[in-house]
Amino acid sequence: MPTSPLCYTITPVDPHAHLFEVRLTVPHPDPAGQQLALPAWIPGSYMIREFSRNIVTLRAECKGKPTPLKQQDKHTWQAAAGLDAPLTVTAQIYAWDLSVRSAHLDATHGFFNPSSLCLRVIGQEGAPLLVDIAPPPGAQSKTWRVATTLPQARGVRGAAKRHGFGLYRAQSYDELIDHPVEMGTFTLASFEACGVTHEIAITGQHDCDLNRLADDLRKVCEWHIQLFGAPPPFERYLFMVTAVGEGYGGLEHRSSTALLCLRDDLPHPGMGAISEAYRGFLGLCSHEYFHAWNVKRIKPAPFVTYDLTQENYTSLLWAFEGFTSYYDDLALVRAGLISEREYLDIQQKNISNLARTPGRHKQSVAQSSFNAWTKYYRQDENSPNAIVSYYLKGGLIALGLDCLLRDASHGRVSLDDVMRTLWVRFGQTGQGVGDEDIRLIAEALSGVDLKRFFAQAVEGCKELPLAEKLAPMGVSLAFKTASSTPSAGIKFSPGEPARIATVFEGSPAHAAGLSAHDVIIALDGLKVNAESFAKRCARHQPGDVLRVHAFRRDELMQFTLRLAEPAKDQCELTVSPKRAARAQRLRAGWLHGAS
Ligand code: ZN
Repeated sequence: MPTSPLCYTITPVDPHAHLFEVRLTVPHPDPAGQQLALPAWIPGSYMIREFSRNIVTLRAECKGKPTPLKQQDKHTWQAAAGLDAPLTVTAQIYAWDLSVRSAHLDATHGFFNPSSLCLRVIGQEGAPLLVDIAPPPGAQSKTWRVATTLPQARGVRGAAKRHGFGLYRAQSYDELIDHPVEMGTFTLASFEACGVTHEIAITGQHDCDLNRLADDLRKVCEWHIQLFGAPPPFERYLFMVTAVGEGYGGLEHRSSTALLCLRDDLPHPGMGAISEAYRGFLGLCSHEYFHAWNVKRIKPAPFVTYDLTQENYTSLLWAFEGFTSYYDDLALVRAGLISEREYLDIQQKNISNLARTPGRHKQSVAQSSFNAWTKYYRQDENSPNAIVSYYLKGGLIALGLDCLLRDASHGRVSLDDVMRTLWVRFGQTGQGVGDEDIRLIAEALSGVDLKRFFAQAVEGCKELPLAEKLAPMGVSLAFKTASSTPSAGIKFSPGEPARIATVFEGSPAHAAGLSAHDVIIALDGLKVNAESFAKRCARHQPGDVLRVHAFRRDELMQFTLRLAEPAKDQCELTVSPKRAARAQRLRAGWLHGAS
């Protein structure tokens, strides 16, 4: 049996050219011809990204001499057969994608997901491995530190010290690619939640009030840990934050998360109440943290062993992303960071957003989950008419189901119990969740037949029965118009010219024959841009007919637009003034965790 581990040496070899060099040593290559492959996607982001496209050069050596590597497909290579000594493969990989999904390197910092840099040694995925994270050339090597939850290779010569360059280790390739790495001059803060060390590493210029952030995040993390039961399933946790002027994103990992946020989303010294931007950032942190249980450990069956070469289909993203979306904001109100009213405002917005998505009548969340790879992750101008978000509707299914369970069981059972059961039965055992399991668990816990609710909410395209489910909580749901401006049914692209992003199906613009990418230049003979288009419409009544001039490609066209009544798609949630004891008790359990 092989005793020496696989070893990857990762060097930010040329930050100005955005090049990492990755040297992989395979001590015992497959004598039939060792195959090596780079993943086509990264778990958590359901799109084929073909990371191998960033490999600039790739060469192999054995016994100090070059040995051929034959490329087999877009991301797989095979070494020569019959090698009887360690195989060393060296790749230079371009890293200039400022996102949480791949790799980025310049003179200010380096960030990488090992799935973008480290070739998989086919047939040896379960072998332990060492990762030597090397410093950049020149003066930077003295000031840069490393943030990652990859364990330090203690007891090995060259082992990394805490936040240092040097040797780290992983038990398998699957573990390796679940630990992103940041290197540079980040700011570091830490806090303890339920006895576990949590760190926040912030890259990019910022004026963050670190004490405030650590204090607020601690409350969020403690709430999540207590929901599933202490201790959490990791020895430490790292929030890796990149603060930018433009951008947004988050990707979950087993003991860390990579986040991209606006620097103004971070709390500034002297900030009083939580701003909406900061509330959004805390919600993002809460979301990725909840994933440490829901999707990183409680997994849909097809994710138990990822196939990194192609799409991994599941119909359950509505539960893994949707329930996570539900709990991200719920944790904020339960942890006392936002008020009950602020929480209801968030849900109002979610319900309004779903009501403004015509695609909810075309695609179920089960279909949306399954087709995430080609539809949700590859949206175009027609997406609002054709698809529904499994985040948005999945979160509202969680809301409806939570209220239903609380009402039917008189507050005895809630979605919290479903999550805890999923954790014990699937998260702790490593068994995958099947398509029916969530319903079966909720039924077993509550004694309620939920076939109809799930058929309608998950498999169906009809409206969710949210008003009915919220009523027992003492919350009434009504829809009103967002403004008195008659509707044209157009969404414009951001920016000055009135360029159409989407024409909503069934709208006046649809009837007029206007299309996405048309640029409207005049309304009733007067020049308009995106802003003045709405202002001019506001001076009209529903039923008024307007002459629209627009360019489609370079051809000037004229359309006749008959404005419609504004849609009643603005949700309003109000807490019933009646002080019914039962509703108050159920609502307290729901929003404050009181039993
Ligand atoms: Zn998520």
